[in-house]
Amino acid sequence: MRVLLVEDETRVAEIIACALREGPGYAVDIANDGRTGSDLARDGVYDLIVLDLMLPMMNGLAVLQGLRRRGDKTPVLVLTAKTTKESTVELLNAGADDYLGKPYDLGELIARIKALIRRGKGAASPMFRIRDVEINTLEKTVTRAGHLIELSPMEYRILEYLVHRPRVVVSKRQLLEHLYDYNWERHSNVIEAHISNLRRKLDGDSEHSYIKTLRGHGYCLTQANKERES
Ligand code: CA
Repeated sequence: MRVLLVEDETRVAEIIACALREGPGYAVDIANDGRTGSDLARDGVYDLIVLDLMLPMMNGLAVLQGLRRRGDKTPVLVLTAKTTKESTVELLNAGADDYLGKPYDLGELIARIKALIRRGKGAASPMFRIRDVEINTLEKTVTRAGHLIELSPMEYRILEYLVHRPRVVVSKRQLLEHLYDYNWERHSNVIEAHISNLRRKLDGDSEHSYIKTLRGHGYCLTQANKERES
């Protein structure tokens, strides 16, 4: 997953980015003003945008309104110092998916970001099952028939990205754009190695491969059924 963080306080931005990279393992791009944030968001490669309201060049509300006017449906979580009823209504009407008043708890922010990303992909439950493989996106663990499969952080991130897009073919470029920050082109050669390792670990001695390669198109998880929430 790749997150755009629009926050002018560089130290705060670094703390949040660090927590997202080290916790859920997301790629994070930072914009320190509204104009840059708005420009980066145009690329449409983000799975979520964290948007501060008070920003230089262009305020957060204008960034959000511009985004929604263009028909961009990327989930947006707004960070705001004012949480009066009026300001909250204005934010939600402008198309914010969630907001958090300052000062906020970093753990709560990360939890809300993860929940919004899940919901944005149409998955309310953090648990996924594909045949006998289970993926727990809260614990970041993967098991097959109850046995833990050890994945490298990048192998896990690839699997998590694919599992949120059941029965959809994901191109190599799409994977690169969503799993790495703006330097993604540098990683173009290693992604295939990560996928082949991931496939080997998932498949074990199973007859059917969990990851299908469609030559020239990309990759697809087979029979990725969302687990029902109990
Ligand atoms: Ca600010």
